[in-house]
Amino acid sequence: MNTIYADYNATTRIDPEVRAAMDEAMEVGFGNPSSIHRAGQAARRLIDQARARVARLINAATEEIVFTSGGTEADNLAVLGVAQAAKGERRRVVTSAVEHQAVLAPCTFLQEQGQPVTFLPVDGDGKIDGAALEAAAKPDVVLMSVMLANNDVGTVQPIADVVKAAAACGAVVHSDAVQAAGKLPIDVNGLGVSLLSFSSHKIHGPKGVGALYVRRKIPMVPLVHGGRQERLLRPGTENVAGIVGFGKACELAQARLASDSRRVASLRDRFEGQILANVSGTRINGNVANRLANTSNIAFVGLDGEAITINLDMAGMAVSTGAACSSADKTPSHVLVAMGQSAAVARSSVRFSFGRDNSDEDIERAVDLVVRTVKLLRGANR
Ligand code: PLP
Repeated sequence: MNTIYADYNATTRIDPEVRAAMDEAMEVGFGNPSSIHRAGQAARRLIDQARARVARLINAATEEIVFTSGGTEADNLAVLGVAQAAKGERRRVVTSAVEHQAVLAPCTFLQEQGQPVTFLPVDGDGKIDGAALEAAAKPDVVLMSVMLANNDVGTVQPIADVVKAAAACGAVVHSDAVQAAGKLPIDVNGLGVSLLSFSSHKIHGPKGVGALYVRRKIPMVPLVHGGRQERLLRPGTENVAGIVGFGKACELAQARLASDSRRVASLRDRFEGQILANVSGTRINGNVANRLANTSNIAFVGLDGEAITINLDMAGMAVSTGAACSSADKTPSHVLVAMGQSAAVARSSVRFSFGRDNSDEDIERAVDLVVRTVKLLRGANR
């Protein structure tokens, strides 16, 4: 029997249409996009078309898209690029305690270099604290970086409040939309952000490619130096096939967003309802009223989330205990800890994240596998 894949927040399967577009790009777009001959111009045209598709997903202008090697690089470019361009007294970065490491780590790096950083606390649902945000909005702030939706629990952040606070103190706003893209409609103009990161492999595109939306005239410096590609913000010969695949994935995500998220929400809700009804000692982590439609983070109080994950894998279901890059170590999710959960409850939690290829039958089987796994582990605990 096939494995039930319920770890879409870690990564997604590449769409066959994306793969076909990449195959063709490797054939007809082998030239260097910076070359003036026809082979180069063919590659350039492919990048231009992909850039337009990527821009359309977030309602940006084509020239505001800077291609990167993924979400991590886009986040680093936003945080370090703006912070390192800062001059005078305005140098502080404000972020939240529940960001992905791709934002937290560059913020910590800045702090170690002597640049001031404020980490906003969150409430029990993982939403940033409004009073702390207001208090942080001081004239020394150069950048506010708050994610659109959280990867571990799915909580959607009040970006409009962040934009308002930033406007009050003259700061630039960045939002990590790596998990939100393809799951929520995104309009960078409606949101009012100046920088927004997203990543191809979370939306059925290839790994190793992503983008940073950079509104015109945002003062920032590049992380790497070299050629003139990507408005000088990300020099280096472009990953043509990857960019083409990302463009196709964005086009598909846009066309399917409404129907996919409705269907996935109903699968997630059915799964969650049945687990809560059939497994004692379970509760949902995150903002149930305002979270990503595909994400269900469940605490199995008294059990070890990692043991559940390993047993489910052996039984034929792929889930995770949190961000893929940190689930290999034993420390509890910093997101759940910031939400006020005890280390024990945080360690008992499992993230189920559903997606496009999940079926009704997957959900029936998933519930059965989770119920049986918990029974097995509780029996083993006695
Ligand atoms: N930001 C968030 C919220 C994520 O969930 C991830 C990946 O899990 C990233 C950033 C990093 O993206 P990438 O894997 O493309 O480097």
